[in-house]
Amino acid sequence: MTDIKQIDKQNIVNTYGREDVTFVSGKGSILFDDNGKEYIDFGSGIAVNGIGVADDNWVEAVYAQLKKIAHTSNLYYNEPCAKLGEILTTRTGLKKVFFSNSGAEANEFAIKCARKYSFDKYGEGRYEIITLKNSFHGRTMATITATGQDVFHTYFNPFLEGFQYAEANDIEDLISKANDKTCAVMLEFVQGEGGVNALNKDYVQKVYDLCKKNDWLFIADEVQTGNGRTGTLYAYEQYGVLPDIMSTAKGLAGGLPMGATLVGDKCEFVMSAGTHGSTFGGNPAISAGAIEVLNRITPEFLASVKKKSEMIIDRLQKMDGVESVSGLGLMLGVKTKKDAKMVKAECLKNGLVVLTAKDKIRLLPALNIKTEEIDKGLKILEKALI
Ligand code: PLP
Repeated sequence: MTDIKQIDKQNIVNTYGREDVTFVSGKGSILFDDNGKEYIDFGSGIAVNGIGVADDNWVEAVYAQLKKIAHTSNLYYNEPCAKLGEILTTRTGLKKVFFSNSGAEANEFAIKCARKYSFDKYGEGRYEIITLKNSFHGRTMATITATGQDVFHTYFNPFLEGFQYAEANDIEDLISKANDKTCAVMLEFVQGEGGVNALNKDYVQKVYDLCKKNDWLFIADEVQTGNGRTGTLYAYEQYGVLPDIMSTAKGLAGGLPMGATLVGDKCEFVMSAGTHGSTFGGNPAISAGAIEVLNRITPEFLASVKKKSEMIIDRLQKMDGVESVSGLGLMLGVKTKKDAKMVKAECLKNGLVVLTAKDKIRLLPALNIKTEEIDKGLKILEKALI
Protein backbone atom coordinates (compact mmCIF):
# COMPACT_ATOMS: atom_id res chain seq x y z
CA MET A 1 0.00 0.00 0.00
CA THR A 2 1.32 3.45 -0.88
CA ASP A 3 1.65 6.17 1.73
CA ILE A 4 -1.40 8.00 0.47
CA LYS A 5 -3.64 4.97 0.91
CA GLN A 6 -2.35 4.44 4.46
CA ILE A 7 -2.77 8.10 5.35
CA ASP A 8 -6.29 8.05 3.91
CA LYS A 9 -7.28 4.91 5.84
CA GLN A 10 -5.95 6.36 9.07
CA ASN A 11 -7.52 9.80 8.70
CA ILE A 12 -10.59 9.76 6.50
CA VAL A 13 -13.95 8.53 7.80
CA ASN A 14 -14.61 5.18 6.24
CA THR A 15 -17.85 5.97 4.37
CA TYR A 16 -16.60 4.91 0.94
CA GLY A 17 -15.53 1.55 -0.43
CA ARG A 18 -12.57 2.96 -2.35
CA GLU A 19 -11.00 1.20 -5.31
CA ASP A 20 -7.30 0.47 -4.92
CA VAL A 21 -6.19 3.38 -7.09
CA THR A 22 -5.08 6.99 -6.63
CA PHE A 23 -5.69 9.22 -9.64
CA VAL A 24 -3.25 12.09 -9.84
CA SER A 25 -3.80 13.75 -13.22
CA GLY A 26 -5.52 13.47 -16.57
CA LYS A 27 -6.63 15.12 -19.76
CA GLY A 28 -10.11 14.78 -21.25
CA SER A 29 -11.11 11.13 -20.81
CA ILE A 30 -7.63 9.84 -19.97
CA LEU A 31 -6.59 9.49 -16.32
CA PHE A 32 -3.22 8.65 -14.76
CA ASP A 33 -2.64 7.03 -11.40
CA ASP A 34 0.31 7.55 -9.05
CA ASN A 35 2.26 4.78 -10.82
CA GLY A 36 1.87 6.50 -14.19
CA LYS A 37 -0.62 3.89 -15.40
CA GLU A 38 -3.11 5.18 -17.98
CA TYR A 39 -6.88 4.64 -17.83
CA ILE A 40 -9.79 5.44 -20.11
CA ASP A 41 -12.48 7.08 -18.05
CA PHE A 42 -16.04 5.78 -18.54
CA GLY A 43 -17.14 7.17 -15.16
CA SER A 44 -16.26 10.89 -15.21
CA GLY A 45 -16.23 11.10 -11.42
CA ILE A 46 -19.84 9.82 -11.35
CA ALA A 47 -21.23 12.11 -14.07
CA VAL A 48 -19.33 15.18 -12.94
CA ASN A 49 -16.51 15.71 -15.44
CA GLY A 50 -18.86 16.19 -18.37
CA ILE A 51 -16.26 17.98 -20.50
CA GLY A 52 -13.45 15.73 -19.30
CA VAL A 53 -10.70 16.59 -16.85
CA ALA A 54 -8.29 19.53 -17.05
CA ASP A 55 -10.13 21.07 -20.01
CA ASP A 56 -8.04 24.07 -21.13
CA ASN A 57 -10.88 26.57 -21.54
CA TRP A 58 -12.54 25.53 -18.30
CA VAL A 59 -9.27 25.80 -16.36
CA GLU A 60 -8.71 29.23 -17.93
CA ALA A 61 -12.21 30.43 -17.02
CA VAL A 62 -11.92 29.32 -13.38
CA TYR A 63 -8.35 30.58 -13.05
CA ALA A 64 -9.21 33.99 -14.49
CA GLN A 65 -11.89 34.36 -11.84
CA LEU A 66 -9.64 33.02 -9.05
CA LYS A 67 -7.10 35.70 -9.89
CA LYS A 68 -9.77 38.39 -9.53
CA ILE A 69 -11.64 37.09 -6.48
CA ALA A 70 -12.54 33.55 -5.45
CA HIS A 71 -15.30 34.26 -2.96
CA THR A 72 -17.35 37.26 -1.94
CA SER A 73 -20.47 36.12 0.04
CA ASN A 74 -24.12 36.16 -0.87
CA LEU A 75 -24.46 39.44 1.00
CA TYR A 76 -23.19 41.03 -2.21
CA TYR A 77 -23.79 40.67 -5.95
CA ASN A 78 -21.28 38.77 -8.05
CA GLU A 79 -21.09 38.83 -11.83
CA PRO A 80 -20.49 35.13 -12.69
CA CYS A 81 -23.37 34.05 -10.44
CA ALA A 82 -25.81 36.52 -12.01
CA LYS A 83 -24.70 35.60 -15.54
CA LEU A 84 -24.92 31.88 -14.82
CA GLY A 85 -28.45 32.39 -13.49
CA GLU A 86 -29.37 34.22 -16.69
CA ILE A 87 -27.98 31.40 -18.87
CA LEU A 88 -29.93 28.78 -16.91
CA THR A 89 -33.26 30.62 -16.98
CA THR A 90 -32.87 31.56 -20.65
CA ARG A 91 -32.07 28.01 -21.69
CA THR A 92 -34.78 26.34 -19.64
CA GLY A 93 -37.67 28.77 -19.56
CA LEU A 94 -37.75 28.44 -15.78
CA LYS A 95 -37.81 31.68 -13.85
CA LYS A 96 -35.22 31.76 -11.10
CA VAL A 97 -32.29 29.78 -9.68
CA PHE A 98 -31.03 29.07 -6.18
CA PHE A 99 -27.39 27.97 -6.04
CA SER A 100 -25.97 25.53 -3.50
CA ASN A 101 -23.07 23.07 -3.39
CA SER A 102 -24.36 19.59 -4.12
CA GLY A 103 -27.22 17.52 -5.42
CA ALA A 104 -28.60 16.83 -1.96
CA GLU A 105 -28.66 20.54 -1.17
CA ALA A 106 -30.33 21.33 -4.48
CA ASN A 107 -33.04 18.84 -3.50
CA GLU A 108 -33.30 20.29 0.02
CA PHE A 109 -34.21 23.60 -1.55
CA ALA A 110 -36.75 21.87 -3.79
CA ILE A 111 -38.39 20.19 -0.79
CA LYS A 112 -38.50 23.39 1.27
CA CYS A 113 -39.83 25.39 -1.66
CA ALA A 114 -42.59 22.86 -2.40
CA ARG A 115 -43.71 22.85 1.23
CA LYS A 116 -43.69 26.64 1.44
CA TYR A 117 -45.63 27.01 -1.80
CA SER A 118 -48.30 24.81 -0.33
CA PHE A 119 -48.21 26.48 3.09
CA ASP A 120 -48.56 29.96 1.55
CA LYS A 121 -51.49 28.90 -0.59
CA TYR A 122 -53.31 26.28 1.48
CA GLY A 123 -52.05 26.71 5.07
CA GLU A 124 -50.77 24.03 7.46
CA GLY A 125 -50.97 20.30 6.78
CA ARG A 126 -50.38 20.00 3.02
CA TYR A 127 -46.74 18.93 2.96
CA GLU A 128 -46.40 15.39 1.64
CA ILE A 129 -44.14 14.67 -1.29
CA ILE A 130 -44.54 11.50 -3.32
CA THR A 131 -41.23 10.08 -4.52
CA LEU A 132 -40.58 6.84 -6.39
CA LYS A 133 -39.36 3.51 -5.11
CA ASN A 134 -35.77 2.84 -6.07
CA SER A 135 -35.06 6.57 -6.34
CA PHE A 136 -32.01 8.36 -5.00
CA HIS A 137 -32.16 11.98 -3.89
CA GLY A 138 -29.17 12.44 -1.56
CA ARG A 139 -27.73 11.82 1.89
CA THR A 140 -28.98 14.66 4.06
CA MET A 141 -31.77 13.79 6.49
CA ALA A 142 -34.50 15.18 4.21
CA THR A 143 -33.14 13.79 0.96
CA ILE A 144 -32.33 10.38 2.41
CA THR A 145 -35.93 10.25 3.60
CA ALA A 146 -37.07 11.28 0.12
CA THR A 147 -34.98 8.43 -1.31
CA GLY A 148 -37.36 5.54 -1.95
CA GLN A 149 -35.11 2.68 -0.84
CA ASP A 150 -35.57 0.97 2.53
CA VAL A 151 -31.87 0.16 2.70
CA PHE A 152 -31.17 3.85 3.35
CA HIS A 153 -33.85 4.17 6.04
CA THR A 154 -31.86 2.59 8.84
CA TYR A 155 -29.63 3.76 11.74
CA PHE A 156 -30.58 7.44 11.70
CA ASN A 157 -34.09 7.47 13.15
CA PRO A 158 -36.22 9.45 13.32
CA PHE A 159 -36.51 10.25 9.63
CA LEU A 160 -38.61 13.14 8.37
CA GLU A 161 -42.36 13.03 8.14
CA GLY A 162 -44.06 13.73 4.87
CA PHE A 163 -42.87 11.36 2.17
CA GLN A 164 -44.80 8.64 0.34
CA TYR A 165 -43.18 6.15 -2.01
CA ALA A 166 -44.83 5.00 -5.22
CA GLU A 167 -43.81 2.27 -7.67
CA ALA A 168 -42.12 3.74 -10.74
CA ASN A 169 -44.18 3.50 -13.95
CA ASP A 170 -47.34 2.57 -12.05
CA ILE A 171 -49.77 5.48 -12.11
CA GLU A 172 -52.39 3.67 -10.04
CA ASP A 173 -49.88 3.18 -7.25
CA LEU A 174 -49.02 6.87 -7.31
CA ILE A 175 -52.71 7.79 -7.15
CA SER A 176 -53.13 5.46 -4.17
CA LYS A 177 -50.30 7.27 -2.32
CA ALA A 178 -51.84 10.71 -2.82
CA ASN A 179 -54.20 12.34 -0.35
CA ASP A 180 -55.22 15.81 0.80
CA LYS A 181 -51.76 16.29 2.36
CA THR A 182 -49.95 15.86 -0.99
CA CYS A 183 -48.08 18.92 -2.21
CA ALA A 184 -45.63 17.56 -4.80
CA VAL A 185 -44.23 14.62 -6.74
CA MET A 186 -40.46 14.33 -7.09
CA LEU A 187 -38.78 12.01 -9.61
CA GLU A 188 -35.65 11.27 -11.63
CA PHE A 189 -36.35 10.72 -15.34
CA VAL A 190 -33.61 8.10 -15.28
CA GLN A 191 -33.07 6.48 -11.90
CA GLY A 192 -29.29 6.47 -11.83
CA GLU A 193 -28.19 5.00 -8.53
CA GLY A 194 -31.29 2.79 -8.67
CA GLY A 195 -29.97 0.89 -11.71
CA VAL A 196 -30.03 3.32 -14.66
CA ASN A 197 -33.70 2.86 -15.50
CA ALA A 198 -35.49 5.48 -17.59
CA LEU A 199 -39.11 6.20 -16.72
CA ASN A 200 -41.76 5.57 -19.39
CA LYS A 201 -42.79 8.73 -21.21
CA ASP A 202 -46.45 7.88 -20.95
CA TYR A 203 -46.14 7.49 -17.17
CA VAL A 204 -44.32 10.80 -16.74
CA GLN A 205 -46.99 12.54 -18.82
CA LYS A 206 -49.71 11.11 -16.60
CA VAL A 207 -47.89 12.19 -13.43
CA TYR A 208 -47.46 15.66 -14.92
CA ASP A 209 -51.16 15.93 -15.79
CA LEU A 210 -52.13 14.81 -12.28
CA CYS A 211 -49.78 17.40 -10.80
CA LYS A 212 -51.34 20.16 -12.88
CA LYS A 213 -54.87 19.07 -12.06
CA ASN A 214 -54.25 18.89 -8.29
CA ASP A 215 -51.79 21.76 -7.96
CA TRP A 216 -49.07 19.38 -6.81
CA LEU A 217 -45.66 20.66 -7.80
CA PHE A 218 -43.81 18.55 -10.33
CA ILE A 219 -40.21 18.32 -9.08
CA ALA A 220 -37.56 16.91 -11.42
CA ASP A 221 -34.35 15.71 -9.81
CA GLU A 222 -31.89 16.27 -12.66
CA VAL A 223 -28.83 16.09 -10.44
CA GLN A 224 -27.44 13.28 -12.58
CA THR A 225 -29.51 13.52 -15.79
CA GLY A 226 -28.84 17.24 -16.24
CA ASN A 227 -26.32 19.31 -18.13
CA GLY A 228 -26.29 17.34 -21.36
CA ARG A 229 -25.92 13.89 -19.83
CA THR A 230 -28.96 12.35 -21.56
CA GLY A 231 -28.51 14.11 -24.91
CA THR A 232 -30.60 17.20 -24.19
CA LEU A 233 -29.55 20.01 -21.85
CA TYR A 234 -32.05 18.64 -19.32
CA ALA A 235 -33.87 15.33 -19.61
CA TYR A 236 -37.33 16.88 -19.12
CA GLU A 237 -37.11 18.12 -22.72
CA GLN A 238 -37.37 14.51 -23.88
CA TYR A 239 -40.44 13.89 -21.75
CA GLY A 240 -42.53 16.81 -23.00
CA VAL A 241 -42.90 18.40 -19.56
CA LEU A 242 -41.67 21.57 -17.89
CA PRO A 243 -41.03 20.98 -14.17
CA ASP A 244 -42.25 23.46 -11.55
CA ILE A 245 -38.97 22.84 -9.74
CA MET A 246 -35.81 21.25 -11.14
CA SER A 247 -32.66 20.43 -9.21
CA THR A 248 -29.30 19.78 -10.78
CA ALA A 249 -25.65 19.45 -9.71
CA LYS A 250 -22.93 16.93 -10.70
CA GLY A 251 -21.88 18.01 -14.23
CA LEU A 252 -22.99 21.61 -13.87
CA ALA A 253 -19.67 23.18 -12.93
CA GLY A 254 -17.40 20.65 -14.65
CA GLY A 255 -15.70 19.25 -11.54
CA LEU A 256 -16.28 21.89 -8.89
CA PRO A 257 -19.07 21.52 -6.33
CA MET A 258 -22.27 23.28 -7.34
CA GLY A 259 -25.96 22.56 -6.95
CA ALA A 260 -28.73 24.56 -8.57
CA THR A 261 -32.49 24.51 -8.10
CA LEU A 262 -34.56 26.18 -10.79
CA VAL A 263 -38.13 27.25 -10.18
CA GLY A 264 -40.88 28.08 -12.66
CA ASP A 265 -43.88 30.46 -12.58
CA LYS A 266 -45.60 28.94 -9.58
CA CYS A 267 -42.60 29.17 -7.28
CA GLU A 268 -40.83 32.26 -8.58
CA PHE A 269 -41.57 34.30 -5.46
CA VAL A 270 -42.11 31.55 -2.89
CA MET A 271 -38.71 31.66 -1.21
CA SER A 272 -37.98 35.07 0.23
CA ALA A 273 -35.03 36.65 2.06
CA GLY A 274 -34.11 34.63 5.13
CA THR A 275 -36.01 31.45 4.17
CA HIS A 276 -32.92 29.69 2.82
CA GLY A 277 -29.24 30.31 2.12
CA SER A 278 -25.80 28.88 1.51
CA THR A 279 -22.41 30.45 2.25
CA PHE A 280 -20.77 29.16 -0.92
CA GLY A 281 -23.84 29.00 -3.20
CA GLY A 282 -23.13 30.81 -6.49
CA ASN A 283 -19.46 31.23 -5.61
CA PRO A 284 -17.82 33.34 -8.37
CA ALA A 285 -15.03 30.91 -9.32
CA ILE A 286 -17.35 27.92 -9.50
CA SER A 287 -19.95 29.92 -11.40
CA ALA A 288 -17.26 30.86 -13.94
CA GLY A 289 -16.57 27.14 -14.45
CA ALA A 290 -20.28 26.41 -14.87
CA ILE A 291 -20.68 29.16 -17.47
CA GLU A 292 -17.90 27.54 -19.51
CA VAL A 293 -19.60 24.12 -19.22
CA LEU A 294 -23.00 25.45 -20.32
CA ASN A 295 -21.50 27.43 -23.20
CA ARG A 296 -19.96 24.22 -24.47
CA ILE A 297 -23.28 22.36 -24.45
CA THR A 298 -24.50 23.59 -27.85
CA PRO A 299 -27.07 21.83 -30.09
CA GLU A 300 -24.15 20.29 -32.08
CA PHE A 301 -22.54 19.06 -28.86
CA LEU A 302 -25.84 17.48 -27.78
CA ALA A 303 -26.26 15.85 -31.18
CA SER A 304 -22.82 14.29 -30.74
CA VAL A 305 -23.83 12.98 -27.29
CA LYS A 306 -26.82 11.22 -28.89
CA LYS A 307 -24.66 9.83 -31.68
CA LYS A 308 -22.08 8.46 -29.25
CA SER A 309 -24.87 6.98 -27.16
CA GLU A 310 -26.31 5.14 -30.18
CA MET A 311 -22.87 3.89 -31.13
CA ILE A 312 -22.12 2.58 -27.63
CA ILE A 313 -25.53 0.94 -27.26
CA ASP A 314 -25.16 -0.74 -30.64
CA ARG A 315 -21.72 -2.10 -29.76
CA LEU A 316 -22.82 -3.26 -26.32
CA GLN A 317 -25.87 -5.07 -27.65
CA LYS A 318 -23.63 -7.12 -29.93
CA MET A 319 -21.40 -8.30 -27.09
CA ASP A 320 -21.81 -11.89 -25.94
CA GLY A 321 -21.46 -11.05 -22.27
CA VAL A 322 -24.24 -8.42 -22.32
CA GLU A 323 -27.82 -9.27 -21.42
CA SER A 324 -29.40 -5.85 -21.87
CA VAL A 325 -28.65 -2.13 -22.00
CA SER A 326 -30.71 0.58 -20.29
CA GLY A 327 -30.57 4.34 -19.85
CA LEU A 328 -30.55 7.46 -21.96
CA GLY A 329 -27.79 9.38 -23.73
CA LEU A 330 -24.44 8.82 -22.05
CA MET A 331 -26.04 7.50 -18.88
CA LEU A 332 -26.09 3.79 -19.56
CA GLY A 333 -26.62 0.63 -17.54
CA VAL A 334 -25.36 -2.72 -18.78
CA LYS A 335 -26.77 -5.96 -17.43
CA THR A 336 -23.91 -8.42 -17.74
CA LYS A 337 -23.89 -12.21 -17.62
CA LYS A 338 -20.85 -12.11 -15.38
CA ASP A 339 -21.05 -10.45 -11.95
CA ALA A 340 -20.85 -6.67 -12.49
CA LYS A 341 -18.40 -6.11 -9.63
CA MET A 342 -16.01 -8.65 -11.15
CA VAL A 343 -16.32 -6.97 -14.54
CA LYS A 344 -15.59 -3.59 -12.97
CA ALA A 345 -12.48 -4.92 -11.21
CA GLU A 346 -11.22 -6.58 -14.40
CA CYS A 347 -11.75 -3.35 -16.36
CA LEU A 348 -9.85 -1.30 -13.80
CA LYS A 349 -6.97 -3.75 -13.89
CA ASN A 350 -6.86 -3.37 -17.67
CA GLY A 351 -7.03 0.42 -17.71
CA LEU A 352 -10.74 1.21 -17.96
CA VAL A 353 -12.74 3.00 -15.27
CA VAL A 354 -16.39 1.91 -15.11
CA LEU A 355 -18.97 2.13 -12.33
CA THR A 356 -21.76 -0.12 -11.09
CA ALA A 357 -25.37 0.59 -10.16
CA LYS A 358 -27.20 -2.23 -8.38
CA ASP A 359 -26.32 -5.34 -10.43
CA LYS A 360 -25.35 -3.44 -13.58
CA ILE A 361 -22.22 -1.94 -15.04
CA ARG A 362 -22.80 1.79 -15.30
CA LEU A 363 -21.22 3.94 -17.98
CA LEU A 364 -21.08 7.72 -17.53
CA PRO A 365 -18.28 8.87 -19.83
CA ALA A 366 -17.42 12.51 -20.41
CA LEU A 367 -19.81 13.96 -22.98
CA ASN A 368 -16.91 14.99 -25.20
CA ILE A 369 -15.12 11.62 -25.05
CA LYS A 370 -13.38 10.86 -28.35
CA THR A 371 -14.59 8.07 -30.64
CA GLU A 372 -11.23 6.30 -30.46
CA GLU A 373 -11.36 6.39 -26.65
CA ILE A 374 -14.84 4.87 -26.73
CA ASP A 375 -13.57 2.17 -29.07
CA LYS A 376 -10.56 1.35 -26.91
CA GLY A 377 -12.66 1.34 -23.74
CA LEU A 378 -15.35 -0.91 -25.21
CA LYS A 379 -12.71 -3.42 -26.28
CA ILE A 380 -11.41 -3.61 -22.71
CA LEU A 381 -14.98 -3.96 -21.42
CA GLU A 382 -15.81 -6.70 -23.92
CA LYS A 383 -12.80 -8.77 -22.82
CA ALA A 384 -13.71 -8.29 -19.16
CA LEU A 385 -17.20 -9.70 -19.77
CA ILE A 386 -15.89 -13.16 -20.55
N1 PLP B 1 -30.01 13.12 -6.80
C1 PLP B 1 -29.56 12.24 -7.72
C2 PLP B 1 -30.46 11.83 -8.83
C3 PLP B 1 -28.27 11.73 -7.63
O1 PLP B 1 -27.84 10.85 -8.55
C4 PLP B 1 -27.44 12.14 -6.56
C5 PLP B 1 -26.08 11.59 -6.41
O2 PLP B 1 -25.74 10.57 -6.92
C6 PLP B 1 -27.94 13.06 -5.64
C7 PLP B 1 -29.23 13.53 -5.79
C8 PLP B 1 -27.09 13.56 -4.51
O3 PLP B 1 -26.10 14.39 -5.00
P1 PLP B 1 -24.84 14.79 -4.09
O4 PLP B 1 -24.06 13.56 -3.87
O5 PLP B 1 -24.12 15.82 -4.91
O6 PLP B 1 -25.39 15.36 -2.83
